[in-house]
Amino acid sequence: MIKAVLIDVDNTLLDFNLSAGAAMEKCCERFGITFTAEFVPTFIRINDGLWAKIERGELTVEGLHEIRWNTVFAVLGVNFDGRIFEKAFLSALFDTAIPIEGALDIVKYLSGKYVLCTASNAVHAQQMNRLKISGILPYLSHVFDSEQIGVKKPDPRFFDACFNALSPIKKDEIVLIGDSLSADISGANVSGIKAVWFNRLNKETPAGVDLFAAVSALGEIKNVL
Ligand SMILES: [Mg+2]
Repeated sequence: MIKAVLIDVDNTLLDFNLSAGAAMEKCCERFGITFTAEFVPTFIRINDGLWAKIERGELTVEGLHEIRWNTVFAVLGVNFDGRIFEKAFLSALFDTAIPIEGALDIVKYLSGKYVLCTASNAVHAQQMNRLKISGILPYLSHVFDSEQIGVKKPDPRFFDACFNALSPIKKDEIVLIGDSLSADISGANVSGIKAVWFNRLNKETPAGVDLFAAVSALGEIKNVL
């Protein structure tokens, strides 16, 4: 019997790509940089690559902040100090939270049936603020994030910290919902808990991935939990 649900935040409950787009447009305006259609896809591609490096232990979050916007600007041909832009971008992102369709409805539903907690690779204060302004926070029993725990998903120590806090609920009574195969699903698989993949783009399930269920829209979670 399932008693607790761990749910990822970025690109599971909150649309990180839309939130990031809104934040970068605001910063471009502030610094007089022309915001073009290439900004969001270029940023997403580079940001995803950098986060994959972080998950593999090849880069730190601090390192990402140092190089992220300079890398994006090099590709876009923008002549501006990326580290200055990064600071403004993080502060704009702090106050931007655009929910994914059905997010609020599903947290209400899940919190009525289970102990509901978020589990994300994120900066604690920023995540708390974004969960608050999106209306999700009141439905959560715990907010687990990598900054507070000290390690990131998919490191099993991240999940061990969640399990300790959720005790006496046992591992086989916990399910994780997330969009990332590398951070969420592989973390759940290695830690021995059930995994629900939020497969928004309807990608094929790779071999070796152990899923309790896959959904392409948040509302479909009601069919499996
Ligand atoms: Mg995510």
